[in-house]
Amino acid sequence: MLRIKNLASGSSGNSTLLRTEESAVLIDAGLSALQIRRRVEDSGLEIEDIDAILISHEHIDHIRGIKRLSERYGIKVYANEGTWRGIKENIENRGLLEYKMKFGDLRVESFPVPHDANDPVGFKIAHEGNKAVIVTDIGHPTSYLLDALRDSLVTIIESNHDMEMLKNGPYPYYLKQRILGPEGHLSNDDCGKVLAEVINEDTVAVMLAHLSEKNNTPELAKRTVKRHIGDDSRIMLTGREAGPEIRI
Ligand SMILES: [Zn+2]
Ligand SMILES: [Zn+2]
Repeated sequence: MLRIKNLASGSSGNSTLLRTEESAVLIDAGLSALQIRRRVEDSGLEIEDIDAILISHEHIDHIRGIKRLSERYGIKVYANEGTWRGIKENIENRGLLEYKMKFGDLRVESFPVPHDANDPVGFKIAHEGNKAVIVTDIGHPTSYLLDALRDSLVTIIESNHDMEMLKNGPYPYYLKQRILGPEGHLSNDDCGKVLAEVINEDTVAVMLAHLSEKNNTPELAKRTVKRHIGDDSRIMLTGREAGPEIRI
């Protein structure tokens, strides 16, 4: 059984816990080490049980806790070469993320994502043939993304902003351009379109992630995605607080 729990999502910090009876990994650690430890403990594990932290890209909302988590608890942090180049802090306990890796009985594949970082990736995690995908900070949909999502039972995917709210919202022009650009963030509409192409009867849940606090609301994200995929029975939301655990 593969258990998936989003510990936090959004510009204030991202982290997702994936575990089996044998292994446990975190995808990103964008909260403080203390917050991550608390949330891991709340889900019934000790922080020392975490086998690895896998980093999607070097932006602070994905790496905030890594230095302390690796120093204090000896957890090894994996990122690809480009991402390591972008991480200014000196992390001693570091590993090189490869496209395919194994952590105990978890198999992990990373795939490229268009975003304004050195070499950003999304993750596909498989256990006993069951697959989950964690992918946020997506500038625009790509064939890599669609391929990764096609047989995913549980998907955590960015649904960052409502286009109208962003255009009419408080952000300065350059920031709006960055978010809307091909290496920015995925809108609710684009998230819905992507999901409509890949969702099927085996899909267990799609969790909308990395919602903007200024340019989106959970209700709006859900409503927009529902319009594309037809029903909302499998749509879940993530946010600042940890979400429920899903088992596949
Ligand atoms: Zn980012
Ligand atoms: Zn981010």
